[in-house]
Formats: sequence, C-alpha cells, structure tokens
Amino acid sequence: MEIITKSARMEVLTQKLRAEQKAIGFVPTMGALHEGHLSMVREARRMADVVIVSIFVDPGKFRSEKEFDQYPRDLARDADMLSPIGVEYIFAPSANEMYPPGFSSFIDVEGLSDRMEGVSRPGYFRSVATALILLFNIVRPKFVFMGQRDAQQAVIIKKMVRDLHLPIEIVVMPIVREEDGLACSSKNVYLSPEERTAAGVLYRALKKGEELFNSGERSAGRIIKVIRKEIEAQPLAQLDYLAITDAEHLDPLDDLTNQNALVTVAATFGKTRLIDDILLCEEKMKSKTGRLKLG
Ligand code: AMP
Repeated sequence: MEIITKSARMEVLTQKLRAEQKAIGFVPTMGALHEGHLSMVREARRMADVVIVSIFVDPGKFRSEKEFDQYPRDLARDADMLSPIGVEYIFAPSANEMYPPGFSSFIDVEGLSDRMEGVSRPGYFRSVATALILLFNIVRPKFVFMGQRDAQQAVIIKKMVRDLHLPIEIVVMPIVREEDGLACSSKNVYLSPEERTAAGVLYRALKKGEELFNSGERSAGRIIKVIRKEIEAQPLAQLDYLAITDAEHLDPLDDLTNQNALVTVAATFGKTRLIDDILLCEEKMKSKTGRLKLG
C-alpha cells in the first residue's frame, strides 16, 4: 500500500490504471476510520480491481478553524486499518494541495443543498461537492462508495454525477452502527460517557418511527411526533432538525403511501453534533435485493 500526498503523482497512477482497463473503486473519507468506513472499503475491494481511499480533512466542511484543528487525525493508525483489507493506495492531500492559492472554481448543487443540513450549515455542500469533484478528477474512479449515514450528501452527489454526466457509479452503503444503535462516526470520540449513553436515543427514536410505519401508519406528521417526543425526553439531546422527505428530491412528505421516504435527524449532545437517518418504504417498493433506494 502506498500513501500519496501529491495530486500529480495520483493522477499519473490513475491514468496508467485506466489505460490498463482497471476498474478503480474509490472511498472518500476524512480519516479517523471506523467500521463504517471499513465496510465501504470491503465492498470496494469486492467490486473493483484497485481500491483507493482518500483521507482529506476539508477546512471548508468546518464551522470554525478550531473545529477543523480539533478533528481527529491519525494517518498511521488509518493506514494500519486499511492495509490488511487490500487497499492499494491512500490519497492524503493537504488543504493546500487541493486548494492552491488562487483556486476559485466551485460546484453548487442547487436546491438539494439548501435544506436540512444545508440550513444548519450554509455552504457545507458547496465544499463537499467541490472537494469530491476534484477528487473524482484526480482519482478517476469507476465506483465511488458513500455512506447512507450522510444521506443528503449521497443524494446531492448522485445528482451532481447525473447532471454533469460523470462516468461514475455511486454505491450507497448501509449505516454501520455501534452496539446500542448509535451510527459509527469519527465524532463519537468527542462525547463524554454521559453524552455517549444519551446519544443512543437517536436510533431508538428512529426505530420507534419505523415500528409505527410498519404497523400501518402513513402520516409523516404522526411519525415525526413520536420520534420528536422520544428525543425530547432525553435531556442531553438538543434537537436541531427532524424531517421526513422523499429519498430523491428531498421534498417534505405528508403521506408516506407508495413512497421511498427518508427520515433524517440532527441533534447536539454537549458540543457534538450528530446526524442519523432511516429509510421507510412498503415491502412492494423494495428492490429485489431488499435495498432501499436513495437518490
Ligand atoms: P467521513 O469520514 O465522516 O467524512 O465519512 C466518509 C464516508 O463514510 C461518507 O460517505 C460517510 O457517509 C461514510 N460513513 C461514515 N460513517 C458511516 C457509518 N456509520 N455507516 C456507513 N457509512 C458511514
């Protein structure tokens, strides 16, 4: 496994791999790897000839310099986790390598980027989309693996790929969770023991909503009420937003009959903001693989 920090070196390699007809599987991450990332890497290993994982902590994705500086970084540990599962290359560019002085081109996926996470974090998806298109151009992947945990991000990037005719297949992988159901996240290490216990409420609440849906409830309003009640009963949780939308356009839904519905939640525990989501749809709407469709 080789760790590459320069885009010029990565580009030479990926051009060679493409010329050899190798299918590149690409997993973009911010490092501080956990089982959620590794499940995507394993799927990439299964589907592609060559696996490239990027580790890029993008300053544009943080609300302050302090938050950016504090983000956990440990390249040696990440490399130790990736090497045994057959990753060929880690691409770990600096911010300066990605955005050299004078960089001035940005991608904005309009509409989809202005809701939910986009309301709480203006400009966030512009940074995400810009960093990813840069990475796609450098890495030239056939398959890109993204997690359902960041459902809105996956929907936006799928739209960008369609709009711009990028020759890429986005593969959305299911959420990997810890034992109590909390979605794995690099940010979970920030939680105090009390906050960590409290954070389990997000998945419990989403599951309550799912149970209600499975028992026949189709009113988004009534499902939201039950989820909200559960979260608000946890004093350490500060709810940011809770939304039920369709899973492609992210438009709010009232009636969940014959819909692919996405329930998204964001909440803060102490200083740590966490997101989670769940997909709801009737049996007949599910694909043959049982996977629900996002984006
Ligand atoms: P991050 O390093 O947090 O920027 O995440 C990089 C990629 O890993 C994104 O596509 C995330 O959606 C995905 N990811 C992060 N956590 C999980 C998880 N618990 N389950 C599945 N995918 C995840």
